Amino acid sequence: MEEIDCELLVIGAGPGGYVCAIRAGQLGLDTIIVDAAQLGGTCLNIGCIPSKALIHAGNAFHNAMTFSAGNPLGITSGPPSIDLAATMTWKDGIVTRLTSGVGGLLKKAKVRHVTGRARFVDGKTVDVETADGVRRIRAAHVVIATGSEPVELPQLPFGGKVLSSTEALSLTAVPETLVVVGGGYIGLEIGTAYRKLGAQVTVVELGGRILPQYDAALTKPVSDRLARLGVEVLTGASAEGLSRDGETLLVRIGEDIREIDAEKILVTVGRNPVMAGWGLSELGLEMDGRFLRIDDRCRTSMREVYAIGDVTGEPMLAHRAMAQGVLVAEVIAGGKRRWDHGAIPAVCFVDPEIVSLGLSPAEAEGRGIAVDVAMFPFVASGRAMTEGDDSGFVRIVCRRSDGLVLGIQAVGNNISELSAAFSLAMEMGATAEDVAATIHAHPTRGESFQEAALRILGRGLHV
Ligand code: FAD
Ligand code: NAD
Repeated sequence: MEEIDCELLVIGAGPGGYVCAIRAGQLGLDTIIVDAAQLGGTCLNIGCIPSKALIHAGNAFHNAMTFSAGNPLGITSGPPSIDLAATMTWKDGIVTRLTSGVGGLLKKAKVRHVTGRARFVDGKTVDVETADGVRRIRAAHVVIATGSEPVELPQLPFGGKVLSSTEALSLTAVPETLVVVGGGYIGLEIGTAYRKLGAQVTVVELGGRILPQYDAALTKPVSDRLARLGVEVLTGASAEGLSRDGETLLVRIGEDIREIDAEKILVTVGRNPVMAGWGLSELGLEMDGRFLRIDDRCRTSMREVYAIGDVTGEPMLAHRAMAQGVLVAEVIAGGKRRWDHGAIPAVCFVDPEIVSLGLSPAEAEGRGIAVDVAMFPFVASGRAMTEGDDSGFVRIVCRRSDGLVLGIQAVGNNISELSAAFSLAMEMGATAEDVAATIHAHPTRGESFQEAALRILGRGLHV
């Protein structure tokens, strides 16, 4: 058996793992990264990037439909058609560009890459099953970055017409009818895109409303838009399984069972950390619920074994995984780093988009913090009007005692691009006065952030 030594072994080349390996290489650590699949993990191959490509295609098609049906802009064009196979080829091209880019970046950082499935023998030794046989890797430090996978419902196992997000992001024809089970991030992002591409979409959500991780004020514009698009949202509803002929989905709402036509069924009821197959039981690492327990340096309960990304818990987001990856590389290289980020932005790429970071008004209240809350609605934003979509708002939550910004939430067209400004304000400890005193370019949606801060100070100008 071939044996290799290194200072750092990273298991999993998703955004957590590959960023960790690149940073470690930059810091001069002799690093190996192992992945059983393509570089880039869930994010680049079957997650963030493919879903955003599909959403973009859905928006483009929907705009074209709008133009063909008459619109206040005075633009007229013929009805569009879509070749989804071509859309997927375009999407796959983006994925290939990005994943091969990761390969180049790893090479530049002098990181060795091994393709194969890794399994711990002990805390410092890992066997990797490659196409050419098993390779044994001994490392001074190991980082577990094995990510997450979709939760499967026993009554609707994946296969045939029952899809996980992975298959839904590779369809070659738009289904006539699509039922989305689970009205969270993935279901609504992908479901909305398929609705805009022409599918008849029904969302089956167990909870009382969609996107339960956000407060009702933030999700209302999304619910309104779904209704306008003709997406039926069933709340308090549970998918019981396929009908006997497999044509329809049986959905329980209270005492009633409803049958819904379903050419395809997308099940998006959450993701589980990948805990199987890499030797968790051999290491006996401490858990934190269903995730690996880590401390503020991403150390697990075993010396020199670290964990980052989706295996370490919520929020399961690519940028959190990347930030943890950088931190761990720097800790291993001797840096005195700790996880001390003020806020992790969450963006939901639905229509309109949602951004949230820090404390919501209810969370601040729950912690007994006296806060002032102000919002600026996009109905009063010139930029929003010129974009033809004035739904939504920016809301800011500030500590009453000194105006420190504790949270920012927003919902609106393209609002994801404002998340950087929001994060910077929070990470730098801005107060309402700081945001209000900053000149924001006109006409932009960013002005609404400044206006919300002005309203906190009782000096709102445009409402
Ligand atoms: P992953 O990206 O899951 O990578 C883990 C890697 O480990 C995989 O490549 C896997 O092959 C490998 N692996 C596992 N076990 C082994 C083993 N034993 N040996 C070798 N290799 C192994 N997040 C956002 O921030 N923004 C978004 O817009 C967004 N959109 C998403 C859309 C979808 C449809 C999905 C599914 C997810 C989305 N996410 C998004 C979440 C994001 O993809 C994850 O949070 C992120 O990929 C987690 O990174 P990670 O490095 O922890 O793990
Ligand atoms: P989610 O937690 O966002 O949503 C799951 C939804 O399914 C919830 O609304 C829940 O109430 C519902 N549900 C649970 N069991 C159900 C059942 N039996 N029947 C019907 N509904 C049920 O999970 P997800 O959409 O699978 O996404 C997983 C994770 O991936 C997210 O939490 C997020 O961390 C990440 N993600 C992020 C982005 C982004 O950043 N834009 C996009 C996609 C995914």
